Amino acid sequence: MIDYTRELDSYLKRLFPITRSITGNGNRETLKILQEIIPLEIKEYPSGQEVYDWTIPQEWNIKDAWIKNSKGEKIIDFKNSNLHIVSYSKPIHKKMKLGEFKEQLHFLRDLPEAIPYRTSYYNENWGFCISYNQYQELFKEDEEYEIYIDSELTDGALSIGELILHGRSSKELLISCYMCHPSMANDSLSGVLLTSFLAKELQNLNLYYTYRIVFIPETIGAIAYCANNELHMKNIKHALVVTTNGGPGKFGYKQSWQEDNFINNMVEDVFQESEEEFIKYPFDIHGSDERQYSSQAFRINCITISKDKYYDYDYYHTSLDNLDFVKGEYINSSLGLYYKLIMKMEKNLKFKNTMPYCEVMLSKHDLYPKTGGTINQLIKNSSKNELDLILELLFTCDGNKGLYEISKDLKIDLDVLYEIALKMKNKYILEIVE
Ligand code: ZN
Repeated sequence: MIDYTRELDSYLKRLFPITRSITGNGNRETLKILQEIIPLEIKEYPSGQEVYDWTIPQEWNIKDAWIKNSKGEKIIDFKNSNLHIVSYSKPIHKKMKLGEFKEQLHFLRDLPEAIPYRTSYYNENWGFCISYNQYQELFKEDEEYEIYIDSELTDGALSIGELILHGRSSKELLISCYMCHPSMANDSLSGVLLTSFLAKELQNLNLYYTYRIVFIPETIGAIAYCANNELHMKNIKHALVVTTNGGPGKFGYKQSWQEDNFINNMVEDVFQESEEEFIKYPFDIHGSDERQYSSQAFRINCITISKDKYYDYDYYHTSLDNLDFVKGEYINSSLGLYYKLIMKMEKNLKFKNTMPYCEVMLSKHDLYPKTGGTINQLIKNSSKNELDLILELLFTCDGNKGLYEISKDLKIDLDVLYEIALKMKNKYILEIVE
């Protein structure tokens, strides 16, 4: 795979400052920039649309926001950081004493230099997020402040990006990332960029599976997408929920809802083969959009490979989750792991013996050694030779087990087994089962 570090760094810089939320022009601008990388289709789901138990909210856009002290000096300015404003804040222009709006100020005593990230999507409100240092230096009990938020809530739409890469099979794998966070780099943006470059890489391959790749706002976007694509989503068995993969810390992976599903073992194989240490996060009902995709009606097995996983790093949901913390090279290393996982998924096909009645006469198909040859030699790290594996595949392949599971049973490398299975397919004694 190509090293995308430089492109990742340059797109990080361009996309980081944009004000994104669950709706709004910042999301459209983000998707348009991503269209330089991959041919995403931008779709709009209108405000007011009912999606299962939810309703797509009004669209939120913001031009400016600030707080001025009694001398008329801007002490907090949205233009310095879009995290200063609680996402979905309604417009306001009013003079107030600190006591009257203290509850509208959010800060973190434990991380005094960081601006926290707060949202109020479904509860009409407004608020400012500031660092604890700013709070202590700039705000005084009896002073009067001028509060200004120039935002707009209108009937608009929720924007999503979608790219379908058609493979030889109509069976789909889902790759999903969320793009609803404003200026934070690991949470949200690292996943968006990894997904874009992963899609760019996949585009050039002759794929077996069809890949449904979506860029959505978290939660409401995933729900809206499921509701608008229900039949497709119901037929998907596996998904990659790509997020928080660009930090300097450890790799990890969140398991899918069925602990014994093969995808979890496959991710661990990828880590081991890449000689990377990793943290295993068992499935739990909290987290990202696997909450929707694994719900009862869909039950998709979703995994997330992370590098500084959400909830787990100190700068999570703060202004310190920035471009000093996140680097293109970290995202690129996570990208390599996702890519290897997909390459394994692509080989995990189900085959069926086309001649299940008794044994196949292998010599007739030029699969039996006449005088010995490579077919008799032991496969590396195995006690079996190719002929053994041909017989094993003919015995086992009835269309029920995937090749990965068979490779585990036989303790043989998936790549080796895949090559042998393909050879047998080319001789028409195995066929792929959808
Ligand atoms: Zn988040």
